[in-house]
Amino acid sequence: MYEVDPILENKEIVKRYRGLLRAWSSNKGLRDKNKVREAFELAKEAHKTMRRRSGEPYIYHPLEVARIVAGDIGLGETAIICALLHDVVEDNADYSTDFIRKKFGEKVAYIVDGLTKIKDGYERPESSVQAENIKKMLLTLSDDVRVILIKLADRLHNMRTLDSMPDYKQKNIAAETIYLYSPLAHRLGLYAIKSELEDLALKYTEPEIYNTIALKLQETEIARAKFIQKFIHPIKRDLTLKGISFEIDSREKSIFSIYKKMQVKEIPFEEVFDIFAVRIIVDSAFELEKINCWQVYSIVTDHYNPKLNRLRDWISTPKANGYESLHTTVMSQTGQWVEVQIRTRRMHEIAERGYAAHWKYKQLTDKDKSQESGLDLWLRKVQEILRSPDSNALSFLDDIKLTLFSDEVFVFTPKGEIKSLPAGSTVLDFAYNIHTHLGNTCIASKVNRKLSPLNLKLKSGDQVEIISSKKGNPKEEWLSYAFTARAKTYIKEALREQQRSVMSEGRHKLEGYFNELSIKFSRHNVNRFSEYQGFSNQNELFLKVAKDEIDINHVRQCCLEHDTLINEDFRAGRSLNQFNTSGHGVELPARPTRPTMMPDLDNLEFTISHCCHPLPGDDIVGYAPAGSALQVHRTNCPEAIELMTRYANKMVYARWSNSHLNTFLAGIKTTGIDRKSMIFDIIQVISEKLALNIRSFHIETSGDIFESYISLYVHDTIDISRLSEELKTINGISTAVRMYKFALNF
Ligand code: MN
Repeated sequence: MYEVDPILENKEIVKRYRGLLRAWSSNKGLRDKNKVREAFELAKEAHKTMRRRSGEPYIYHPLEVARIVAGDIGLGETAIICALLHDVVEDNADYSTDFIRKKFGEKVAYIVDGLTKIKDGYERPESSVQAENIKKMLLTLSDDVRVILIKLADRLHNMRTLDSMPDYKQKNIAAETIYLYSPLAHRLGLYAIKSELEDLALKYTEPEIYNTIALKLQETEIARAKFIQKFIHPIKRDLTLKGISFEIDSREKSIFSIYKKMQVKEIPFEEVFDIFAVRIIVDSAFELEKINCWQVYSIVTDHYNPKLNRLRDWISTPKANGYESLHTTVMSQTGQWVEVQIRTRRMHEIAERGYAAHWKYKQLTDKDKSQESGLDLWLRKVQEILRSPDSNALSFLDDIKLTLFSDEVFVFTPKGEIKSLPAGSTVLDFAYNIHTHLGNTCIASKVNRKLSPLNLKLKSGDQVEIISSKKGNPKEEWLSYAFTARAKTYIKEALREQQRSVMSEGRHKLEGYFNELSIKFSRHNVNRFSEYQGFSNQNELFLKVAKDEIDINHVRQCCLEHDTLINEDFRAGRSLNQFNTSGHGVELPARPTRPTMMPDLDNLEFTISHCCHPLPGDDIVGYAPAGSALQVHRTNCPEAIELMTRYANKMVYARWSNSHLNTFLAGIKTTGIDRKSMIFDIIQVISEKLALNIRSFHIETSGDIFESYISLYVHDTIDISRLSEELKTINGISTAVRMYKFALNF
């Protein structure tokens, strides 16, 4: 149990604060402490009534986080202040972000705000761990990468003090650490932090394994020390003889990585040969680093034979996270393999502490640059690593989870919701990602509150607002704006829809011209006219008519030249009577709604409506406007519903006769992943397997995805559902659905 003693606690706070200053000054040299002191006092005041779970004063925590930030990561004043303040806004209503901004400026406020926004499993252990989300948050809010670095320090201290958490929470937090924070630390080149996080996580997730390995390490320690002494003795002697200034020691592998090795190789502890590595650190002038390291290598291999293929030269090509070192594995006198790591002091610091240390040395080489700009340089570099690892960087990453991020951008909605899109996505893709309707009606956007075009490429962290208008409509050029297959698919669909409505407008106009000239508006006659105008299909004709490029005069001209058109006796519908007596097709009426208004059925013709293409098997309803053919609709067709509400008296109930002799036009849409001979396979199923006649076949591909629209003749709904089932068995097809609405020619 923790004993509260205010005097001792005060001493401890001061001691820890001094520790922080020491870590800072040893890293960066002495500096103006005023701002840091101010932040410390403010944090102390804000947390004064708060205690950690362990019972200790809360201020210990921000102090420790700041010390890790200053000492282990090597960051400067701004980061130290932010670390001290990282829990202030969260925990105390008296201290708002605005308050922080006024006192410490924009930068500090921004970082503290970012830290406050990221709620991980430690701060919210009651909710399920959403590591995926935190990861996104981290990478999105990392315009200033210090947010991530301070968060790492925060997590490290929380892991060090995890004992006071209840058991099940320890496991959750440890899992999150392994999944998210240690790979991040690795990615940033913070090896010491990465190893400590992993060991601590193992300690809480697999306490037994952790303790066993720890114990074995302890038991073998003395023997190991003896062995190492003997091993390094000749090397030491030769290095000294050559007048090289060096340091030689050994470093044990972390418990976590020993455990990992045992698992991967399925071997017991005793067989892990590289439990430790011998490390030779040489003091070397920057220009002589490479030569000096290879000189050491040559001395080592004078005494021990190197293992073939085990030489790792990360000096000529450093790892993407900045790691530089020369690794070799050699055979010892006692027949044991020993790994030897050779590096300069500069390389060593980078290996332990990442780029911050790197900068410290860089400063020595280009003195003209100021401290702050150098730090910015490093931060930018880290950001580059985080955002777009090049292929080289990827090759060494043992954690592939994080690499996924190179292909994604994370953007915010105006309400702060996070959306992930493939890298390369534009504003238009974002709009379609939110909603198809928003995509179809968008006209412009505001990205980070600035008016932006729809083809603007999005960057992680952008906040995107879509401006839409009822009058907005997809345009042909949008296909080149959009990056995602999803958006392209919807744009194409919308463009097709537009064309369909233009065509139907043209069709309507043409019908008017025909009527005016007393020509029956039959398919046959339309085809005649279409051929006369030199079109291969009616749709082209309808489009021209819609654009008024073809008008009544053309029809008149056609009639004059081919009077067959007028005299043509083709009838669009067939008499219902005919159908009934021949025993197939529709059977009308079942039950009229208004018997008095019932049309004379004997003279009634019927047409199948193009708005819903009913098939035998569908529930149908008939609309019988005076003097024209009865229109057969599906009962749930929107047009029929409208007709039913407006002209209830002209509706007749209808049902299908049982015959299967007749066929009806139906449409089916399939989607899937395109591949060779996909079309062939589809056609084979339709024509061979089900013996159905195809009327039209239209296929579109966008990337790997294809969509096909097929119109064909079927007997009834059973045919269509069988077809859909059969199509779905084709490799690569994901959907096959009946279309109710489709143009005669797609
Ligand atoms: Mn914290």
